[in-house]
Amino acid sequence: MLDVDRLYEKLKNIRVGNPLCRFTRERCESLLPAISRIEELKRERNAVILAHNYVAPEILYGVADHTGDSYGLSKTALQSGAGVIVFAAVRFMAETAKILNPGKTVLNPNRNGACSLADSIGPADVRRLRAEFPGHTFVCYINTSAAVKALCDVCVTSSNVYRILERIENENVYFLPDKLMGQNAIQHLQSKGVRKNVRVYEGACHVHEEYRPESVDFVRAQNPGVEVLVHPECRPAVVGKADFTGSTTGMLDYVRRSPGQSFFLLTECGLTGILQSEFPEKRFVGSCTMCEYMKSNSLADILRVLENPSPEDHVLLSPEILEGARRCVERMFEYAE
Ligand code: SF4
Repeated sequence: MLDVDRLYEKLKNIRVGNPLCRFTRERCESLLPAISRIEELKRERNAVILAHNYVAPEILYGVADHTGDSYGLSKTALQSGAGVIVFAAVRFMAETAKILNPGKTVLNPNRNGACSLADSIGPADVRRLRAEFPGHTFVCYINTSAAVKALCDVCVTSSNVYRILERIENENVYFLPDKLMGQNAIQHLQSKGVRKNVRVYEGACHVHEEYRPESVDFVRAQNPGVEVLVHPECRPAVVGKADFTGSTTGMLDYVRRSPGQSFFLLTECGLTGILQSEFPEKRFVGSCTMCEYMKSNSLADILRVLENPSPEDHVLLSPEILEGARRCVERMFEYAE
């Protein structure tokens, strides 16, 4: 059972920009009743809590059974023996858990489960594009709704996008919805000498789109020796300045392996918080960029959906969408493994 000392030990070194992400011992004490009740309800309901790396630290360290990025959590959802999955993230991720576990109860505690990237495209857009670009393999980033996935051929994540695009046999590919990840993928394919005609949609993540190459130059000048880690949802000009480009799990693994002492992570600042907790002796420089959608998850809402879920907390998908989206996600596993 988690007590205040263990919780405070995990949270006390988190120093990302927003005061909401700072933890005193008193604040940890005030969180314990909700955490204890959630633990009780998890046992009673045979529930598991999956939490994305970007959600609030008290969820990651207080109640989550599994944390990770969208790819890792999708696989965890597939293997989980629990009857109820509570997915603390944004709606498309909870939908992915439902796609992989159609017989289980999947609860989305985040009433603001939006995502600027996933919401940039809907099924009507995909139908129009398929009519406009016949003969193309439609590849969607996992940051899309189930309805969009159901109309695409194969799904990718930030950890396997380059590998899967290389392996697709068709020379003509339409990649959606992230234009910046698509541009990075095109550059990667060119660098590997892979000939493909890749068209990209116009969506973007408002968090990662913010970063500019000048910021990397500035941070490097101010912090000699700093290692720069970049998410592939950033601009190609930013990716071009990185020491490492990869998913959030890839970034965590990089820092865990690196003997370096100073890092600049260009992604949502929840990741910096995790690393500050794990490596209080290392320095993490740069500004805090928050995803307000991920940070909309709260212990109160997790407690609410476990105690008394309302119909809108349940992730429900029609049989046609479930079947089409599952085929799309399963093809990702086939291509990636
Ligand atoms: S960080 Fe970007 S892609 Fe991820 S949930 Fe937030 S808006 Fe969507």
